[in-house]
Amino acid sequence: MKKLEDINLEHKKVIIRVDYNVPLNENLEITDDNRIVESLKTLNYCLEHKAKVILLSHLGKVKTEEDKKKKSLRVVALRLSELLGKEVKFIPATRGKEVDDAVNNMQDSDVILLENTRFEDIDGKKESGNDPELAKYWASLGDVFINDAFGTCHRSHASNVGIASNMQEVCLGFLVRKELDNLLPIIDKPERPFTVILGGAKISDKIATVQNLIKKADYILIGGAMAYTFLKGKGIETGKSLIDEESLDFAKDVLKTTNKIILPIDHIVSTSTENSNYQIKNTLESDDIGLDIGPKTRELFKSYLLKSKTIFWNGPMGYYEKEVYQEGTKELCEFISNLDATSIVGGGDTASAIINMGFKDKFTHVSTGGGASLELLEGKGLPGINI
Ligand code: AMP
Repeated sequence: MKKLEDINLEHKKVIIRVDYNVPLNENLEITDDNRIVESLKTLNYCLEHKAKVILLSHLGKVKTEEDKKKKSLRVVALRLSELLGKEVKFIPATRGKEVDDAVNNMQDSDVILLENTRFEDIDGKKESGNDPELAKYWASLGDVFINDAFGTCHRSHASNVGIASNMQEVCLGFLVRKELDNLLPIIDKPERPFTVILGGAKISDKIATVQNLIKKADYILIGGAMAYTFLKGKGIETGKSLIDEESLDFAKDVLKTTNKIILPIDHIVSTSTENSNYQIKNTLESDDIGLDIGPKTRELFKSYLLKSKTIFWNGPMGYYEKEVYQEGTKELCEFISNLDATSIVGGGDTASAIINMGFKDKFTHVSTGGGASLELLEGKGLPGINI
């Protein structure tokens, strides 16, 4: 595959698959624009080289007509326009005359953003199912295709793999290259000790990653609800804490085969996720729900982090939606930000938390793709990269 710098972009229609799947609040305001900010390098490069830029992105999942109202990219076009300092024309369609006319009328250095690619999922999952006709149509809009949406590189969709397979001039954008430059070395040759922090709720999505990381990492610190599935697997009382039942056997097997896994030794517990009153306990009782790692666990985890040269983190240490249960995550974040180690955050909730706390620049790399970075850490190639 050619490099972006080796492709002549002048006067060309350049389709860029970006990842503008940004979190929105109830008022449909963007609460974290990091993915838009991170896309600017490729965009500015194309504009400086007098390309006509056609942007495609998804935003959330779209299953019904009703979902469309909350998943329009119009708000993203406005934010992008502010960040670029130039007009970004929003086209409220994913195909048809409106799109064709807009593309045909473009001048050099114009930017247009089409509507959410997943609007095409309502009628037969055309985007997510990589429908050949849709892929061919989108490819027909441009001369060059740049995949710069790392967050969807683990998926074979019409707007990434589909378009690429219908075009001659195809390359990766600067954002995707930066992700690979930061993530691949920690699999291939991490500076040791290499410590992985895993949190969040579900293990089932992360089983293959955990299996590969057991081989690669020196220590795996597990917090969040994920820890309770492992503690239960050890026969320890977990009360009413959230358990990923379908992964219980996996957790038991893992604990039998490795001693690299470090689990919490105390907990912040309450009677419900809505209750802000909590207690700190070393062991849970039958009615307790563990909602954050306790102070002794934070110190235990820090002792491993302190001696680490490479740190990879995916998933919050507690029930992050409620401020009172964010402390464990915040404390580790602050601690890592002062360490002299390669520190990488694997997207998702943890990345948003770190960015919102203002620590982004203190980490070596904050990935824009949660699922994609985890699949990369499984040690397998991603379809959106091998285009
Ligand atoms: P995941 O999608 O698997 O990365 O999980 C992220 C979710 O896990 C977030 O919504 C967190 O609030 C939630 N979470 C983390 N720790 C806990 C916990 N101890 N109890 C309940 N939910 C948790």
